[in-house]
Amino acid sequence: MKVACVACGGTGKQVDDEGWQYKCSVCRGTGLRMEGESTKVLSVDENNRLLD
Ligand SMILES: [Zn+2]
Repeated sequence: MKVACVACGGTGKQVDDEGWQYKCSVCRGTGLRMEGESTKVLSVDENNRLLD
């Protein structure tokens, strides 16, 4: 399953305030969120009981 990286919106690039473009450090330029990232989010939700 492919999930778009939330840090760069799936573009694989991030732009700073001065307009410089960088390869997204979260997805490493792939535009996709890593499997490990979503696992972290799920565990946080469990601990905070946000789904209740
Ligand atoms: Zn990204």
